[in-house]
Amino acid sequence: MDLQNDNSCSWINDLNKRTNIKILDENKSCDWLVIGAGYTGLSAARKLSELHPGQKIIIVDAQLAGEGASGRNSGYLVDTTLNDGFTSNKELENYKKKTDIYKLGIETVKKFIKEHQVDCDWNECGKYFASSNKKDQKTLINFSKTLSNLGFDNNILLNKDLTKRLGTNFYNIALHTKGGILLHPAKLVRAMIDTLPKNVDLYENSFLFNWSKLNGIINCNFKNGSIKTKKIIFATNGFLKSLGIKTNYNFPITLTASMTRPLTDEEFKFIGEPKEWGVLPIKPMGATVRMTKDRRILIRNTAEVHSPYKMSKKDLDIRSISQKIGIKKRFPELSDNIIQSTWSGIVSRTRNSSQIFEKLDKNIFVAGSYNGSGIGVGTLFGEQIAFKASDQQTSEIETIESRNKPTWLPQQPFLNLGVKARLVYERIRARSEI
Ligand SMILES: Cc1cc2nc3c(=O)[nH]c(=O)nc-3n(C[C@H](O)[C@H](O)[C@H](O)COP(=O)(O)OP(=O)(O)OC[C@H]3O[C@@H](n4cnc5c(N)ncnc54)[C@H](O)[C@@H]3O)c2cc1C
Repeated sequence: MDLQNDNSCSWINDLNKRTNIKILDENKSCDWLVIGAGYTGLSAARKLSELHPGQKIIIVDAQLAGEGASGRNSGYLVDTTLNDGFTSNKELENYKKKTDIYKLGIETVKKFIKEHQVDCDWNECGKYFASSNKKDQKTLINFSKTLSNLGFDNNILLNKDLTKRLGTNFYNIALHTKGGILLHPAKLVRAMIDTLPKNVDLYENSFLFNWSKLNGIINCNFKNGSIKTKKIIFATNGFLKSLGIKTNYNFPITLTASMTRPLTDEEFKFIGEPKEWGVLPIKPMGATVRMTKDRRILIRNTAEVHSPYKMSKKDLDIRSISQKIGIKKRFPELSDNIIQSTWSGIVSRTRNSSQIFEKLDKNIFVAGSYNGSGIGVGTLFGEQIAFKASDQQTSEIETIESRNKPTWLPQQPFLNLGVKARLVYERIRARSEI
């Protein structure tokens, strides 16, 4: 199976190429093995090293570390996400549990960047949930009440204000939340790689084919070698299912995004020189759109079941056209060919949008399925699964474990049919917002 992502992601291409890449090409053994080197796996490995300084820790990735979803997402470190409803107290209670986890996620990332003096274009500018459709006002008013009940600062804005703030008059209604951070996702994950402690060995371009447990020892077979380990943490997120993990609870979804070149001084002036901003859609399949610190426009407006995992150049070109139209709708005055790169990434979803955080068996642990909000939660879950695997209880684990657990999914082919039908339905509902 090919697990290499495309190499056309602007975020990743902003960074210097890494050197000293080690490939696993012999048989090894260790105390701790982490599979997957994104936010989750890197945070788990870092915490394990702190908890067990004398032990041998290995982390392995099928591609270059951090070049999966962690290096290619939209960069919203969220404090809140939008769901319809929240009318009953029960729903409010559940929503609070969700935001408690987001809050811990933000604190964990914040602590990491402070401790290591990380520059990842951190901007505490909040975010907008916005729509061009005035009918969405009802959803936003409901949501605003929920947020206010839980003590989140928020305010509703209309077209005139939005045009000034965003440089586009596309949006007619929005709710701005003050919490939440915009950042450069690839810079953040690169810092996690660069600061890996000395007793953690990282192997890359080393695909895990299969694994088994015999007499308490876990044996993992990679492309060119094997590793025997006493304990293992699976942090492969969108690829959990392909490794036979929690197969009835999560499934992969492929997202695509495009980024423009930086706007010229003239173009930027023309749209009113807005400060950096980020818009999330009100309907799930609407577009996520960002104006970056360096005046690039990012748009993500597809989510689909796609096999194989890697998208061909042709597949990406098709998605790029839809993203070009999305930018044109919002910024008709900008020239047609300003998209610099288009890329895809894989995330993991569960039926009820809850995350996976679990001991699967004695010595086997898993964290993942952040349903599109994995920057903070992945970093948090990575650290906390390391505590759990070390038999240590923390207040963060208590919060995580009091969430609603992921619910059971239908079997194939019903799952794919159901998911595809749902995505088509959601895409139609959100058509004006794509
Ligand atoms: C386009 C896009 C936009 C997004 N926007 C946001 C956003 O704005 N905010 C937000 O919070 N989240 C966002 N997300 C989601 C977020 O990126 C993920 O939730 C997060 O990166 C998950 O981190 P992770 O470490 O668990 O998984 P990943 O970063 O996916 O890392 C898993 C790693 O496991 C490796 N792996 C898989 N299988 C194997 C194997 N068999 N052997 C060895 N290694 C293997 C993969 O190569 C990969 O590097 C977005 C995702 C995408 C794709």
